[in-house]
Amino acid sequence: MAVCRIAVYIRLSKEDDKTKDESGSITTQRLLLRKYAAEHFAEYELTEFCDDGYTGTNFERPAVRELLKRAKKRELDCILVKDFSRFARDYIELGAYLEQIFPFLGIRFISVNDHYDSAALLGNGAGIDVNFKNLLYDLYSKDISVKVRSSLAVRKEKGQYVSANSPFGYEKSPDDRHALVIAEDEAQIVRWIFSLAVEGYTSVETARMFNEMQVQTPIEFKIKKGKTSRVPKGEKFLWNSSTICQILRNEVYIGNIVQKKYEKDFVGGKNHLKPRAQWLVGRGHHEPLIDREIFDMVQKGRGKGRMPRDNRTHPLVGKLVCGACKSNLRCRGGKNPYFSCPRRYFSAMEDCVVRADALFVEEAVLLQVQSNVQGGGSAKELIENAVDKIVVYKEQQITIQWKPHLLNTRGDTI
Ligand SMILES: [Zn+2]
Repeated sequence: MAVCRIAVYIRLSKEDDKTKDESGSITTQRLLLRKYAAEHFAEYELTEFCDDGYTGTNFERPAVRELLKRAKKRELDCILVKDFSRFARDYIELGAYLEQIFPFLGIRFISVNDHYDSAALLGNGAGIDVNFKNLLYDLYSKDISVKVRSSLAVRKEKGQYVSANSPFGYEKSPDDRHALVIAEDEAQIVRWIFSLAVEGYTSVETARMFNEMQVQTPIEFKIKKGKTSRVPKGEKFLWNSSTICQILRNEVYIGNIVQKKYEKDFVGGKNHLKPRAQWLVGRGHHEPLIDREIFDMVQKGRGKGRMPRDNRTHPLVGKLVCGACKSNLRCRGGKNPYFSCPRRYFSAMEDCVVRADALFVEEAVLLQVQSNVQGGGSAKELIENAVDKIVVYKEQQITIQWKPHLLNTRGDTI
């Protein structure tokens, strides 16, 4: 029997050092792989390739390059790694090696912890492709869910963005007109829309609130950037629920591009939507704006009416404003209602009220009103007559702004 020429590939990254995770150390990887070789091969010779302190996001590592060089010269029969991420963190590139390059060179690839052995998949026909792709997508979506935003990890899988217009939240890259890059001013609003949806805002409520707060619409952004010269039908452009819905279901925000959604009935005929399964989806095409988990959560909530929540209107709503941005606070929550600023998702609005307990705010307001305002009447009337605005700050500090004729009251901060 011929001797199997095994390459053992080991990588220790800088991140590994920091966490002092012993399971990823060079010694551990070496022991695991040598043990595996001894148990699974009769006759073999082992060469070790070790990269210390290199990231897995590309193949610019001396040992991996040496390994690939030897592989291409057909000096290796088998490559052994602890897990895929040791070899490559760019799953698209990893896929190319595992699906095309190594099979072409006749090299067997084993990833011990992933229970992946290319030899075991041989003869499995079409199954290889599907199983393996699923595995890749699995790994890939895990990556997204841990917010790996590194653009290095994002490569085109297939397809190019060919539409003339970029979707709201993105713009065409100045270097490559088929590539999309994040337009941060628009992206903030997209993230905001998703955050509100997770909180249970319906698209109608979000649209209404945006119009109230005069949030710029996608068209207005385009006009501002000189991309269109459209004029509004009415007085101005407004948000509506279908715009919000379109954004919430658009996979472009998780880094995918979806093409070939429509087909023509006959030559020159009308476009109609194809079944979802027939769309061409390119995954990992560009940097995502929204985590996969959030996106999936929102999709589950859509179409089922509203998400479970208590949409109460509190008597103080309308009086309460955010200390940072002066937006009207909203009342949220079920058993323990609280006030929050709807603008807090803006990265620029870090001092917005995240959560001010409703009971606390009520108490604090009552206390101040009663000690400052003479006269009878219910608390509701007192507040109605004497209080102009109640400013709430992030740390639940409360300042009451009295109506002008009551300015001679005592200090008003608690
Ligand atoms: Zn605010």
